[in-house]
Amino acid sequence: MRQKAAAIVPVLAVLALLAAVAVQAAIPAPRQVLGFEMGEDRKLADWNQVIGYFQKAAAGDPERVKYAELGKTTDGRPFALVTISSAGNMARLEHYRGLQARLADPRGLSEEEANRLIREGKAVVLITCTVHSTEVASTLAAIEYVYRLLTEDTPRHRLILENTIFLLVPSLNPDGLDMVADWYRKSLGARWEGSPPPFLYHRYVGHDDNRDWYMFTQAETRLTVGQVHNVWHPHVVYDMHQMGLYAARMFTPPWLDPVDPNIDPLLVSEVNMLGTAMAADLATAGKKGVVVNAMYDYWGPARHYQSYHGGLRILTEAASARLATPVDIRFEQLDTGALGYSAQQATWNHPDPWPGGAWRLRDIVDYELIAMEACLFYTAQNREMFLRNFYRIGKNALEPWPGKPAAFLVPPDQKDPATAAKMLNVLRFGMVEVQQSKKPFTADGAEYPAGTYIISLEQPYSPWAKTMLERQKYPDLRQYPGGPPKRPYDVTAHTLPLLMGVKTVEVRNKLEAEAELVRSDLVPPPGAITGASAAAFLLQPTSTSAFQAVNRLLKKQVPVSRDSRGNFVVRAPAAAIKPLADEFGLQFRALERGARRARPLRPPRIGVYQSYVPSMDEGWTRFVLEQFEFPYRTLYDKDIRAGKLNESCDVILIADMSRRVIVEGYPSAGQRGRDTGPLPAEPRPGERERGELPFFTGPMPEEYAGGLGEAGVRALHEFVQQGGAVVLLNRACAFGSELGVSIKNVLSGVATREFYAPGSLLRIQVDTRHPLGWGMDAEAAAWFEQGPAFEIPASAADTIKPVATFPETNPLLSGWLLGDNLLHKRPVVVDAQVGRGHVVLFGIRPQYRAQSHGTYTLLFNSLFYF
Ligand SMILES: [Zn+2]
Repeated sequence: MRQKAAAIVPVLAVLALLAAVAVQAAIPAPRQVLGFEMGEDRKLADWNQVIGYFQKAAAGDPERVKYAELGKTTDGRPFALVTISSAGNMARLEHYRGLQARLADPRGLSEEEANRLIREGKAVVLITCTVHSTEVASTLAAIEYVYRLLTEDTPRHRLILENTIFLLVPSLNPDGLDMVADWYRKSLGARWEGSPPPFLYHRYVGHDDNRDWYMFTQAETRLTVGQVHNVWHPHVVYDMHQMGLYAARMFTPPWLDPVDPNIDPLLVSEVNMLGTAMAADLATAGKKGVVVNAMYDYWGPARHYQSYHGGLRILTEAASARLATPVDIRFEQLDTGALGYSAQQATWNHPDPWPGGAWRLRDIVDYELIAMEACLFYTAQNREMFLRNFYRIGKNALEPWPGKPAAFLVPPDQKDPATAAKMLNVLRFGMVEVQQSKKPFTADGAEYPAGTYIISLEQPYSPWAKTMLERQKYPDLRQYPGGPPKRPYDVTAHTLPLLMGVKTVEVRNKLEAEAELVRSDLVPPPGAITGASAAAFLLQPTSTSAFQAVNRLLKKQVPVSRDSRGNFVVRAPAAAIKPLADEFGLQFRALERGARRARPLRPPRIGVYQSYVPSMDEGWTRFVLEQFEFPYRTLYDKDIRAGKLNESCDVILIADMSRRVIVEGYPSAGQRGRDTGPLPAEPRPGERERGELPFFTGPMPEEYAGGLGEAGVRALHEFVQQGGAVVLLNRACAFGSELGVSIKNVLSGVATREFYAPGSLLRIQVDTRHPLGWGMDAEAAAWFEQGPAFEIPASAADTIKPVATFPETNPLLSGWLLGDNLLHKRPVVVDAQVGRGHVVLFGIRPQYRAQSHGTYTLLFNSLFYF
């Protein structure tokens, strides 16, 4: 028996192997792997299913499909890249990548050599899916598209495979994809079926995950830019989104004005061509409701990195269903108020309105399959044009053009050297060449010391460096002459030196300096400890990393106190603070024993309020607190309603959200009289009619409904009365009245025609003697986004103190501001004493998208102010 068995085993093994080969020889249909058709009603894939499909596709057709894990997401999921091309191209992938890199930097490249590379090269197309996790269709469409591309042998598919290298990121936010799939599956059959989840669909940033493409703070952004964009320099990047239920069925470019003047006009022409070709393919297939040149503008590098790196950005926005649940829409419900078109009218840019009716996930997948194919096909067909223009854009970037400075300088004498190093590293991550001078030099008649950083604008990505370092002059666009402002799609400014508080000098004339290229990430210049024999050391709060160092010391129970000027006094031997001085470049100065009177600090017990109506600012706040090692705990409605907050918290922070969201939250599914459809209420300032998926307002399961309610408001009031501090950011300032702060917002109810600041950098004056202003300069740039500006009533002059105030002249530093006179001399950060505690109102956004390092100190001070 034994011998027989032994003889059978090899035969079985061979058979198994043959069977495996047979299975591997074909790409499985999506249904075979996932168990349902892509776009089927009420079916969403989770991330394991998605990557499982692409892994099987790569195993089934290894010559034409490559699956790679680029790294891990914020929550530890695999972040995937799928590469697809003809077998011949795939065999020489490294060769084509090198060729592309050579064309990307045309310095030292002869025309002859360039022509050869252009003839030989392939067009590189990157398609990215589901950056916004409730816009669920594109990942499913991509699965089906890859299957069709590789299994249906058509002339178009052959051309695409031959002429392009197709890079696919199946999801830019796999964590969110799972969060939404999980929430959706639980919601099936309930009244809230198809609602967006009552939490951010990314641990920190939620919907703002596509506003991070110049600061690169999040793992997913860094993987995509660092390992896809910067490696492949794609000519075309197609980012797939969805918009509201009632919009046109699909948007494709051309974009609306304004176009950032730093984007090469060649890219604008190419994007117009490709976008309208895609719209024409949709029309050819009989798809109605396609709109171009509406809603979405071409301003703001936070959304399109590639547009400054030789590639164009294609966006499609498809109308949504309720996740995977179909909706029925009447024609009369379709949007008439969006920028650039009416969904009910036939116009040149929206020639064939959709008549209304049922709209389901499969409809979106159908539109997206056509759009993906069109994008790839027209790029393949125009392969040589895209390569030639890519090369020319790189050459243009090396040349001077009207108004282009010669360079920007970052001198070494910075108030906060660690933040200056961070800014230069952020620029370097965006492929900006940074040099450091070895000797003193002169620029525009001024002297600069050795060690000055130089960012020349004679480099391949000078448009990127320029847009990030200069001050934005946003055009004064009106809906009609003399009318209200035309709302920008996002914000209007992104000047890094102002955001980060880094001294930077623009140089007009070509400069000569002996300098060398910075080749690795910068660290702050070494700090120092002076007078090592003392028992205590003084640390000024001028650098944001001083707070990080203090948090670390407090965690180790090292005694730290704060003197009457805000300096930290650390009682520890020099050896204990040396590593902090080294890591953060901090200056510690020895003190005589007992030379200072100072208030002892303890680790602040910070509570961050998290509403079930997700606030991206709340997520960014947590991110910033973690970066600077502030301990905190999340407070939900029930935690606050339970009261006795002083027992567990010193400071409670409420991020940017409206008073109504804080107090009322979502309506409960138990309440009557509400439509179950998503209601487009509570947009962020300026977000109304942006065409984004409208924020859902209910109903929700009981546990997520109701906001703070009366009990919560009372508990917070009591917390302040008994000595707690509440910090309110931007719109949350309106909640101050519930806590007994009587202050007037002078901008409340003012029409946008009279006042408009949709995300701009403004000058503020800081009272540096106030404990909240310690460590700040007397003047700073602050992020202001339709926030409040205050008038302190005479009766409250003793209890409400201004901390930061707008100057008496126009405060605009970068971006767009209408009605600046309404801001003159208005307090914008105030400290209100209530009972034994404080309420701090921030009309600015001090930790905006983890970018506004220049005002972090104000926020950090407020967390030690109790
Ligand atoms: Zn989106």
